[in-house]
Amino acid sequence: MTVNPVQSNGGASGPYVRIDGVTKRFGDFEAVSHVSLDIAQGEIFCLLGGSGCGKTTLLRILAGFETPSAGSIFIDGVDVTAVPPYERPVNMMFQSYALFPHMTVAQNVAFGLRQDGVSKAAAAERVNEMLAMVQLEGYEGRKPHQLSGGQRQRVALARALVKRPKLLLLDEPLGALDKKLRERTQFELVKLQERLGVTFVIVTHDQEEAMTLASRIGVMRSGEILQVGSPTDIYEFPNSRYVADFIGSVNLFDGQLVVDEPDHCRIACAGLGVDIFVDHGVSAAPGAKVSVALRPEKIRLARERPEQRENVVMGSVSGIAYLGDSTRFLVLLEGGTQLQVTRPNFDRHDEHLEDNEVVWACWDAGSPIVVSR
Ligand code: ATP
Repeated sequence: MTVNPVQSNGGASGPYVRIDGVTKRFGDFEAVSHVSLDIAQGEIFCLLGGSGCGKTTLLRILAGFETPSAGSIFIDGVDVTAVPPYERPVNMMFQSYALFPHMTVAQNVAFGLRQDGVSKAAAAERVNEMLAMVQLEGYEGRKPHQLSGGQRQRVALARALVKRPKLLLLDEPLGALDKKLRERTQFELVKLQERLGVTFVIVTHDQEEAMTLASRIGVMRSGEILQVGSPTDIYEFPNSRYVADFIGSVNLFDGQLVVDEPDHCRIACAGLGVDIFVDHGVSAAPGAKVSVALRPEKIRLARERPEQRENVVMGSVSGIAYLGDSTRFLVLLEGGTQLQVTRPNFDRHDEHLEDNEVVWACWDAGSPIVVSR
């Protein structure tokens, strides 16, 4: 199984889903603003963003439950903007799973097929096939309340997939599961999706879920898509302060560009005590105000001053949180800036830094991310 498979955007046959200049207004409020996006066949695409950013509205537009105020939706090259939900090759799995409480697992999964006039025998065969796929054989006769949260989630998935949609839309699919089960189910979901080759568009506000599931992520804010990229792109090369801050933990510094050459640049940051030296140029206007993002795991701590000349600061440990697999430190610098540093706990007998201890923090010139907005 490949988690985070790298997928092409479109390919020779064109994108499977094309969202073309879509805007959605409710009265004079714009919930989705000028979104254009291509999704390839077989992708797991995650729309990620905070509450109210417009991700569910965009999903509902794809399903046909909302009509865009402007723009078009194409699925498999066909303009479906005016096509009603039941005529689209699309199914949607809701956050609440919306299972019928009085029906058995088998009846829940068969429901859509029976509505479409599929015979009882043919429906039973498809239901069995689907329940085997989500590993729920033997549970056919149970009612939803006799299942665990994870099992209910798989029934909902089976019900959404039994009609063999080409595109499955999932709204916070793992939101009702506890953390352990969610982590396990994330991998199962990717495996199932790979086996079926169905294109998934998933809405989530959980960045870890998006990073685990997605081939690509679209980060949304205030109705707009700020960045689209693979999980690695989004984490390592965020295109804005907002994206850097939204995904993972980060140290953010306001600074001013003082040197900008093709092979390096230097950014003066008040409160840090030293310039940040970066191993590439940024081609910005001289003296431009920029932000620098530095991930906590990219910073090293040492009791002795490291040998490197650039990107070294001194401070004192002002907080320690032992997280098991890693330890998170806060380091207070002389200028008053606080650095977050994460150190993996490779060895149970790693040297332990103490509260208030004086330490040196340093990072490589390739680690800072410079963003201009
Ligand atoms: P959450 O994660 O909280 O579900 P979301 O990103 O999915 O948030 P949406 O449900 O898409 O957000 O809503 C985006 C914005 O549009 C919100 O401010 C919401 O209040 C507004 N909105 C959504 N549906 C309607 C509606 N039918 N009428 C008026 N406003 C709406």
